[in-house]
Amino acid sequence: MMLIPTHHFRDIERKPEYLQPEKCIPPPHTSPVGTMWFIRDGCGIACAIVTWFLVLYAEFVVLFVMLIPSRDYVYSIINGIVFNLLAFLALASHCRAMLTDPGAVPKGNATKEFIESLQLKPGQVVYKCPKCCSIKPDRAHHCSVCKRCIRKMDHHCPWVNNCVGENNQKYFVLFTMYIALISLHALIMVGFHFLHCFEEDWTKCSSFSPPTTVILLILLCFEGLLFLIFTSVMFGTQVHSICTDETGIEQLKKEERRWAKKTKWMNMKAVFGHPFSLGWASPFATPDQGKADPYQYVV
Ligand SMILES: [Zn+2]
Ligand SMILES: [Zn+2]
Repeated sequence: MMLIPTHHFRDIERKPEYLQPEKCIPPPHTSPVGTMWFIRDGCGIACAIVTWFLVLYAEFVVLFVMLIPSRDYVYSIINGIVFNLLAFLALASHCRAMLTDPGAVPKGNATKEFIESLQLKPGQVVYKCPKCCSIKPDRAHHCSVCKRCIRKMDHHCPWVNNCVGENNQKYFVLFTMYIALISLHALIMVGFHFLHCFEEDWTKCSSFSPPTTVILLILLCFEGLLFLIFTSVMFGTQVHSICTDETGIEQLKKEERRWAKKTKWMNMKAVFGHPFSLGWASPFATPDQGKADPYQYVV
């Protein structure tokens, strides 16, 4: 893909020699199309494993401490289906957020040939990333963990071991939403369980001993509360930044707005796809960003 310089220019890096194209050598081998995206970062991988472990812990307590020992089968089956469906969607969103290329700019494309092929007019500006030697499209930022420039980078999230950018923001938003929903659902079930079991004999309420049951439930409560607060704040922040079309980095840096302002609904469609459908809530539906791409590229 090539970048056609847009109508706005920046003040620095005007001089062609600043780009130092001779210092950029093309990458030794370009990864074939379809290669899985995965960041080899120890901290990120550990955080992603912890995330899965915490969801599986909640799954274990909900099923084996609360629902299976319960004698109210309708309550158990309905709550079991809802909780498992939400947990499955949360983990699927996590996988897609982690394994989707967030919008990486081709590495090492700031070669002399490439810059010449852009046919820049005098005064036109392109940005070169000195770290990954690529020509940065507007609104791209370099991530030091991914070691790549990412289009519309919002932030690097160790919990999904990936950057949140143009191509995977939908999955990240769904991940925070489903985690918030399972946390809320688990908390409601723990509340009902405590209410119900205080009236009854504890030994009839759980197949575990009363102290073990209480410890498992309190840990679930703690986990649920923590993640409900964390993910719902994150969800709200993400939806706000999508609606205002301003990434987390741009808000932090208080960057001047250089891109066209669009309606909130158009901004939502740019991330979740065209048109509005049930696919917005599905981590398996890849958003159709082609029609909504606000950047000027030619393929
Ligand atoms: Zn870079
Ligand atoms: Zn990153």
